[in-house]
Amino acid sequence: MSLTLERGTRLVVATHNPGKARELAEILEGRFILVAAGELGLPEPDETETTFVGNALLKARAAADASGLVALADDSGLSVKALGGAPGIYSARWAGPEKDFGLAIRNVEARLEEAAATDPSAWFTCALAVAWPNGPAVVVEGRVDGTLTFPPRGDLGFGYDPIFVPEGHSLTFGEMAPLTKDGMSHRSRAFVKLKAALL
Ligand code: IMP
Repeated sequence: MSLTLERGTRLVVATHNPGKARELAEILEGRFILVAAGELGLPEPDETETTFVGNALLKARAAADASGLVALADDSGLSVKALGGAPGIYSARWAGPEKDFGLAIRNVEARLEEAAATDPSAWFTCALAVAWPNGPAVVVEGRVDGTLTFPPRGDLGFGYDPIFVPEGHSLTFGEMAPLTKDGMSHRSRAFVKLKAALL
C-alpha cells in the first residue's frame, strides 16, 4: 500500500469538536471529501495516551478501523511554561464536563496567580495523525509559541484563543480573522508537515 493521499479521498475526520473540525476543513482546502466521525456514529475513544502524538494516533486508528475509511485525527492543546506545560494534553478537560472555556481560562489564571508566575510564555501544539484501516499510520506535530494575556480578548476563535497572543503579534487568536489565525496556527503548521509526508 502506498502512503499517499490522493485528492478527493474520502477522509473521516475524527474530531467531535466543531471549532477544530471547521479549522481542519479550512486548512484541507477542499482537497478531500470530509466525513465527520459523528456523522458515522463513531464513538469518541478515551484519550489514554500521555502525549499529543499518542492521542492523535489513538483517535485516527480507532476511527479508521471502525469506519473502513482513511482517518485523520488531531490532538492539540495549550501548554503554559510557568505551569510546567499544563494543561497540555488535558486542555479540553480543564473546561469541565460542560466544555466551559471561560472556566478553563479562569483555571489557568488562578494557577498562575497561585504560582506567583511572572513568565507569560505559552505554546499551542497540534499532532495530526492519518491512519489507514487496519494498516499503517503517519503522525506529525506543529507548534506556535506566544504569550498569555488576561483578561481574555476576542470571540472569533474557540477554546483558549482569547488569552493567547502569538509571537510577533499584538492581537489574541480570539481577535484574529480565522484565515489570519490559520496562516500561523499549530494546526496549519502540522498540516504543512503532513503535506510534505503524504501529498
Ligand atoms: P483535544 O485535542 O480534543 O484533546 O482538545 C484540545 C483542547 O485544546 C481543545 O478543546 C481546546 O480547548 C484546546 N485547543 C486546541 N487547539 C486550540 C486552538 O487553536 N485554539 C484554542 N484552543 C485550542
